[in-house]
Amino acid sequence: MKICLCGCAPRMGRRSLIAGALAATAVPAVAAVPADPRLIDDLVVANRILYDQGVVDGFGHISARHDKDPNRYLLSRSMAPALVTADDIMEFDLDSNPTDSSGRTPYLERFIHGEIYKVRPDVMAIVHSHSPAVLPFADTHTPLKPMNHIAGFLGSGPPVFDIRSTAGDASDMLIRSKDLGRALAKSMGQSQILLMRGHGSVAAAQSVRHVVFRAIYTEVNARTELQAMALGKPVFLNEKEAAAAMKTNDGLVERPWALWKQRVATK
Ligand SMILES: [Zn+2]
Repeated sequence: MKICLCGCAPRMGRRSLIAGALAATAVPAVAAVPADPRLIDDLVVANRILYDQGVVDGFGHISARHDKDPNRYLLSRSMAPALVTADDIMEFDLDSNPTDSSGRTPYLERFIHGEIYKVRPDVMAIVHSHSPAVLPFADTHTPLKPMNHIAGFLGSGPPVFDIRSTAGDASDMLIRSKDLGRALAKSMGQSQILLMRGHGSVAAAQSVRHVVFRAIYTEVNARTELQAMALGKPVFLNEKEAAAAMKTNDGLVERPWALWKQRVATK
């Protein structure tokens, strides 16, 4: 069942209703209260913003935990983020099984999302990307740390997940199974950001708007840090400064969101 933007129940005949009820009894993952259309709208807009801001390209994805069922999440079918519409948004249980694919193909790496939602009840939205300026920090032992207050969410520097520790030395680098997703989520711990060696990064937050903020400013901070390293040894925010700045900025995400949203609306 595709999610309806207006939130209405789909029209079903009597036979379909009974079949649906039986299916719901046999397979609890099926059938759902539709997500809030405003959440779907934010998710669609977020996909476009992340492309517009250079965080994702043809690859990368953003999910949101279902607002009416914490054991489900919403994620686009496998496609370029900038082209996502409401009809492309699929619903998954936390084992990353689609509740109704309707012939749509899910992202191979959806397990990143499901396994983090399982162990992080505070997380309501997740971005996975291969944003280019972050990669040098994932592939070296140089820590990514907050260069200014906007990136306070980086704390004392994100952990780095190396897929070799779970998949050995001949994987295709993708988080294509529950086991790999579980290992990645464990490596992330309570961090807001996780770097993935030879791959990219993950951002987590309490809302779609907050996670877009974090994904964008992780990329911006990486660029700034690389520039600073060319000049000398950067002096980063310490942990107390980073925590205080993150608390302040968490109350200010609506301002850049409005700007980023307007940019993609006029394109
Ligand atoms: Zn990836």
